[in-house]
Amino acid sequence: MLTWPAPQIPQLPGEGGPVLVRDTSSGRLVEAAPGPEATLYVCGITPYDATHLGHAATYIAFDVLVRAWLDSGRSVTYASNVTDVDDPLLERATATGVDWRELAQDQSALFRSDMTALGVVPPDVYRGVVETVPQIADGVRRMLEAGAAYRVPTPEAEGDDVYADLSVDPAFGSVAGLDEATMRALSAERGGDPDRPGKRSPLDPLLWRAERAGEPAWDAPGLGRGRPGWHIECAVIAADGLGVPFDVQGGGSDLVFPHHECSDSHLRVLDGGAAARVHLHTGMVGFQGQKMSKSLGNLVLVSRLVAEGVDPMAVRLAVLAHRYRDDWEWTSADLAAAQERLARWRRALSGNGGPDAAPVLAAVRAAVADDLDTPTALAAVDAWAQDALEGGGPVEEGAPGVVARTVDALLGVRL
Ligand code: ZN
Repeated sequence: MLTWPAPQIPQLPGEGGPVLVRDTSSGRLVEAAPGPEATLYVCGITPYDATHLGHAATYIAFDVLVRAWLDSGRSVTYASNVTDVDDPLLERATATGVDWRELAQDQSALFRSDMTALGVVPPDVYRGVVETVPQIADGVRRMLEAGAAYRVPTPEAEGDDVYADLSVDPAFGSVAGLDEATMRALSAERGGDPDRPGKRSPLDPLLWRAERAGEPAWDAPGLGRGRPGWHIECAVIAADGLGVPFDVQGGGSDLVFPHHECSDSHLRVLDGGAAARVHLHTGMVGFQGQKMSKSLGNLVLVSRLVAEGVDPMAVRLAVLAHRYRDDWEWTSADLAAAQERLARWRRALSGNGGPDAAPVLAAVRAAVADDLDTPTALAAVDAWAQDALEGGGPVEEGAPGVVARTVDALLGVRL
């Protein structure tokens, strides 16, 4: 799968310390990557609608994590996926009379241009489901052979659907820590089928969907024609791209259950008990009092803001003004404040000299390493900018350059 151009990340003096994040499962602050090589998997988009602010906030948050890791001297391997065949995509294609492949291609291209504009570091491993079907099918077969999956007769198809048997995994439930009733409700709400007849347990997730009339399908030895389920897709792409265990599994908080609970379970079954070490989730972004969602039609699109002439760096600053794990609401006042901040920072950086930059670098470094506390990082730059604009204090030549590189390298904001 084609990625997008990598932004240049300036070198900063010295090195950042270990990066701590709050693990969703334990609720504790933990070191995101204890070793010299950091590995990250962030669930990618289902390309049927353009990038809205909620997506942008998620990818910007993990971009800050990648930048903090790089600044701490770690090498980073970042893997992600594109769910380029899935029910919502097929439904949208049918509803709009567009070929599903064309819809996926167009929306994937738009996502790439949004990520480029926002200065997000691209994944090192970027796979679409369609190009990975043989490996995913292999994973499903291995789960069947291991007794961790079973076939469910499917009268409307020639073959059988295949489901994971969650009872073989005693650690199932450890990611989200939810009770049975909540898991069942969320499963029904988020793509699962708890009431499907023939399953051993309501929460067992689909691994392979046998071909239905009019739906895309691929030949898979031992499984018959069909297409992969959602959770197994990410498990296989993560294991292929990063190996297991890997450091951080990330995504929006609506992916904690069932998606990450199930993909972790598949990883443990396929790879000897290991999955992601840390789970990290971003909050939901609302708009006009409701969660931003395609079905409600209240999307604020990055591409539309940029087309209206908004500097993508202002969009980025508006996102960074919120803690990544909080739910928050996008408002025009947010954007106006970010635009004003961007202009103020640019004015403050326009001189050859300014107040000492070393404390700003230290403060921004410390803030992002403390569970990606970007609002505190922005406040440190604000304070420097205010001093620079007021003048009167000691002036160091080259300080604006160091501040600009700090903001660029650690926050991804190009000034
Ligand atoms: Zn995923």
